Amino acid sequence: MADAYSEKALELLASQKAAWDMAISGYGSLDSAEVRSFEFEGYEIKTQFNPGRIRSTAAKVDKKSVGERKCFLCEENRPAAQESIDYGDDFWILVNPFPIFPEHLTLPLRAHEPQRVLPFFPAMLDFARDLADRFTVFYNGPKCGASAPDHMHFQAGTRGFMPIDREFDELKRRYGKTLDEKGGVEATAIDDGLRKIVALEGSDKAALADRFARLHDVLAETIPNEEEPMMNVLVNREGETYRVVVLPRRKHRPERYHAEGEERVLLSPASVDLGGVAIIPVEEDFKRADRSVVEEVFREVFVERETLERIGEAYAD
Ligand SMILES: [Zn+2]
Repeated sequence: MADAYSEKALELLASQKAAWDMAISGYGSLDSAEVRSFEFEGYEIKTQFNPGRIRSTAAKVDKKSVGERKCFLCEENRPAAQESIDYGDDFWILVNPFPIFPEHLTLPLRAHEPQRVLPFFPAMLDFARDLADRFTVFYNGPKCGASAPDHMHFQAGTRGFMPIDREFDELKRRYGKTLDEKGGVEATAIDDGLRKIVALEGSDKAALADRFARLHDVLAETIPNEEEPMMNVLVNREGETYRVVVLPRRKHRPERYHAEGEERVLLSPASVDLGGVAIIPVEEDFKRADRSVVEEVFREVFVERETLERIGEAYAD
């Protein structure tokens, strides 16, 4: 079953890259994307110059702008050449025509409902299981990088592409603090100096959903919480074990995003950026984004150390 979905998704990608103009140009431009790499203690953050992502990075996600455009995830508004795979009764698997990853999927709910993680978290685990051998599944909150905050969707990208996919165990060993293991779900708070993370690991889907709901409650009390507590989420599955990486946020877009002239760096952090591949769609901004800019932006959007400690204490209470 699991392999079947990964395989079907890769077949869909191959056929869309051959026949759909948007996918052809999107994946074509990815081949020439420029990359810089910055080393930190035990991890790496890259920047990727990716002009094809301007639409997403610069997306206006305020209510008025969203209300005035046609939703690009609703079936009736999709380009005729865009094909889909049915995933259960509630979701679709689509090819993302503005890729960051060599294999990049969008996983929208069929119904046009607002972006929310809690009610769909079990579905996220199912996606992670069914796409495990090839993909990492991720979620961007409505004010944490989603360019369609009005239409519930997950995404999936080539597994191992984000440095955090392979660095996780090392981050946990160096910077992790075990919170508890209730319900067989190991919870760990990680502060690597730039990023603040709460990771949940376990093999029982119901127990994970239960502990995720607990964490969601705690976040609702401790971090900015409008539609939902601000967060990004990454999920992998290795063997029988799910690894859920929750990145709690305090800010949607950094000051530099809104700055002008020499100060500006058009970087709107979402799951992939925080997972270690920061996307910058404008060349001058990409050149300007040195190590200190990366540090500044990451520190700005994540919660502070004391907040992570409060989250950890409340979660394990
Ligand atoms: Zn929609």
